[in-house]
Amino acid sequence: MKKLLALTAVAVATLTAQTAQAEDFPGKDKVITIVVPFAAGGPTDRVARDLAEALRKPLGGVSIVIDNAAGAGSTIGNAKVARARPDGYTLLVTHVGMATTPVLYRKLPYNYETDFEYLGMINDVPMTLIGKPQLEARNFSELRSWITKNSGKVNLGNAGIGSASHLCGLLFQSELKAEMTTVPYKGTAPAIADLLGGQIDILCDQTTNTTSQIEAKKVKAYGVTTMKRLTTPALKDLPTLDESGLKNFQVTIWHGLYAPKGTPAPVLKALNDALKVALKDPEFITKEEGLGAVIVNDKRVEPAEHKKFVMSEVARFGPVIKAAGVYAD
Ligand code: ASP
Repeated sequence: MKKLLALTAVAVATLTAQTAQAEDFPGKDKVITIVVPFAAGGPTDRVARDLAEALRKPLGGVSIVIDNAAGAGSTIGNAKVARARPDGYTLLVTHVGMATTPVLYRKLPYNYETDFEYLGMINDVPMTLIGKPQLEARNFSELRSWITKNSGKVNLGNAGIGSASHLCGLLFQSELKAEMTTVPYKGTAPAIADLLGGQIDILCDQTTNTTSQIEAKKVKAYGVTTMKRLTTPALKDLPTLDESGLKNFQVTIWHGLYAPKGTPAPVLKALNDALKVALKDPEFITKEEGLGAVIVNDKRVEPAEHKKFVMSEVARFGPVIKAAGVYAD
């Protein structure tokens, strides 16, 4: 009986401490760290930085910093957040990798279903197939012939196993039935830098990273991965890969916001409320739309719905990835 009373007292004390902590969340002079599991300057980093700005106001002007914990196709950064203190001061912004890495990695240092609190989805982002400026191919059909002629010699960059560029590249190779040498980076910011320098030949990357390069004609643009052309002014003349002959080639990825499992419910609510306000911020919307992304404006902004959506993405991409037969340890 004594033991039971002691245990109850501990439980009550923990709950009281959590409630007090949650009530003044985010505390004065505290800093929220958003972990980005890819390199600085890339598309995931960009959405996290823009979101951080939009989140500040609804979170009472709190300071938010970005921690680029890049590498291993996002799994290093994801693991960092899974192990972080669940107090709302460490969050994760990542993308479709949340759903592809569990299929691709034989062992992950975290459980994507049970080690995170799903806070909500941020955006949907199309991808583009781009090439180094030195390529002579002027359109997708010329690129296709060039790839066929150079089978086995084409260098295709990506942001590591499980990244969006890896997924898009896998689908692309399987559609073309072409073997390419894949070159992994810690994110697509360094991959684009190498593409500009001609060290890699092609890359599939989010429009949020490629729009300005395409607009400035610094890279060759071969197609967009949506079924309809985009309306974004800088991308509206870019044909879809589907209309260029890769029938039904469609890859739209997304970004979401997460916290470590066990973050108190009132803190989660404060964060989700702030996310909903941020997603209505006109400045944030304009920035994202100008880069071809679509801000989420549906039920996937609700934690349970976002989690359901991620599970459906695991089911959608699992068979495709398995068919490609690529796994990482
Ligand atoms: N675009 C990258 C990817 O392919 C990730 C990044 O650098 O944000 O997943």
